[in-house]
Amino acid sequence: MRRVALLGATGSIGRQALEVLAAHPELELCALQSLSTPLDALSEEHGVAHAQVGGDPIELLERSEPDVVLNAVVGFAGVRATLWALEQGVTLALANKESLVAAGELALAAQSRGGGLLLPVDSEHSALHQCLAGCDAATVSGLVLTASGGPFRGRDRSQLTAVTPAEALAHPTWSMGPKITVDSATLANKGLELIEAHWLFGVPYASIEVVVHPSSLVHSLVRFRDGALLAHLGLPDMRVPISYALTYPERAATPVEPLDLVGLSLDFEAVDDDAFPLLGLARAAGERGGTAPCAYNAANEVAVHAFLEGRIGFLDVAEVVEETLARIDAAAARDLDDLVAADEEARRLAAKGLQPA
Ligand code: MG
Repeated sequence: MRRVALLGATGSIGRQALEVLAAHPELELCALQSLSTPLDALSEEHGVAHAQVGGDPIELLERSEPDVVLNAVVGFAGVRATLWALEQGVTLALANKESLVAAGELALAAQSRGGGLLLPVDSEHSALHQCLAGCDAATVSGLVLTASGGPFRGRDRSQLTAVTPAEALAHPTWSMGPKITVDSATLANKGLELIEAHWLFGVPYASIEVVVHPSSLVHSLVRFRDGALLAHLGLPDMRVPISYALTYPERAATPVEPLDLVGLSLDFEAVDDDAFPLLGLARAAGERGGTAPCAYNAANEVAVHAFLEGRIGFLDVAEVVEETLARIDAAAARDLDDLVAADEEARRLAAKGLQPA
């Protein structure tokens, strides 16, 4: 029996994780956490003794003694649980990409002390993890992340000035929560994933490409030095990477629709950096290092929130992030306190950037 603590239980990943857990009797749900949604009904339905709404997740994790922490919290709020699991050597199934973006260096240091497994739940990174299984790192020449392109693929800048939150929330292939769906529309999500891939797989930014793939059937690829590419294919269904991480390395049977290959064609396009500058800004923040990725994430969270509330336009999201990054010093974080301070400073600068000049 594997005991699973589910953080972010009421979000999109949380709900799909509950489906996966229900299909696998060898997995026991031992703890539930949500940011603000009540959990009474869910705890009763799943017979979970430990549940917590809001507050510090560490106390809940220490009480419930999980074998696996599925961290599906949205945003920087997921950092504490990520660092705790890695430090304790508890297997971390990570859907909270922001924690690795903001705290990549601290997370890897915690993992090397704790010695536990870090399994990505992001579909692209799960794909890369699977393509890289059993490979000698020296044979890998690069990673290719695929991006659906979001609902505004093919539009130029002038066609993006007036788009609404409702339009940004209509994702063509993946069904996800509002923050990540807007991030998919701006390509900030791919920017976060680029930084996430760098930390997860130890590959330099210059060797990580991003390519637009509208049907989201190829979830990512690995290039090898002999010219071979390994790709991971499947229907866009988050239950697959969730199941992979929770049952690793058994790859337990999961009731998903099979992908019909007949008649299938795979299209790829270049990213339009002019219309979607947040990907390039993420690459620059990653290469700059220190707390620059943390600031990128913080400014983006503030700007996306303001966009969803109708306070700024779609293209302003990238501007707020760019201006924030121009104003920070990006010094490295020695510990979580430094990181929290860098996150707060970037949020303050981003909020200032939202005011009319
Ligand atoms: Mg993803």
